[in-house]
Amino acid sequence: MLTIALSKGRILEQTLPLLKKAGLEISDEELNSRKLILDTSLDDVKVIIIRATDVPVFVQHGAADFGISGKDVLLEHGADGLLELLDLGIAQCKLMVAASDEQKLNQNTLKIATKYVNSTKRYFEAKGQQIEIIKLYGAMELAPVVGLSHCIVDLVDTGNTLKANGLVPLEHIIDISSRLVVNAASFKTKNAEIKFWINSIKKNL
Ligand code: AMP
Repeated sequence: MLTIALSKGRILEQTLPLLKKAGLEISDEELNSRKLILDTSLDDVKVIIIRATDVPVFVQHGAADFGISGKDVLLEHGADGLLELLDLGIAQCKLMVAASDEQKLNQNTLKIATKYVNSTKRYFEAKGQQIEIIKLYGAMELAPVVGLSHCIVDLVDTGNTLKANGLVPLEHIIDISSRLVVNAASFKTKNAEIKFWINSIKKNL
């Protein structure tokens, strides 16, 4: 039995066609049900649907053999017990610093609203900039507008969300895409099976 962890939304939408080309299908009936463990076209493969931030957790602990996770989530979670074996090139975006204008970044201690605490710390530490992080779980764009922070660190795709809130992207931290991550123990015990799926997905990228 093989268990694959996916998250709802962008990643699921863009992963399903890749899995289909690789020979694994999930029926609309399963997808539209409220089930969290989905049957697939193969008896020995199940898909679990969880929150994006939980995908590395389930894979790390072996509750899923492999999963698809955004690099943003992996950078925050850390790589313990996880093997990042394939860049799927889907759900691409950039992790960026944004503010209402460039001057806002000129502070002795820069106040930053973000949910990407580790990536933000690493980036500003490397620049030698002193910062104060205000951890938020969503609606980061609001923080500079209401004076909670000088700037934000968030994912940017089209830039429309920033624009709609009077913010501009100023500094590029890292390019993001979804990665296939494998449980290190599963990669030993189910090596042939997991390699088969990685190769089948890779062939069709
Ligand atoms: P956009 O307005 O197209 O720049 O999209 C930005 C919004 O979508 C932000 O709230 C981001 O957090 C979210 N977003 C963009 N791309 C991704 C992605 N690949 N994965 C997760 N969230 C994303």
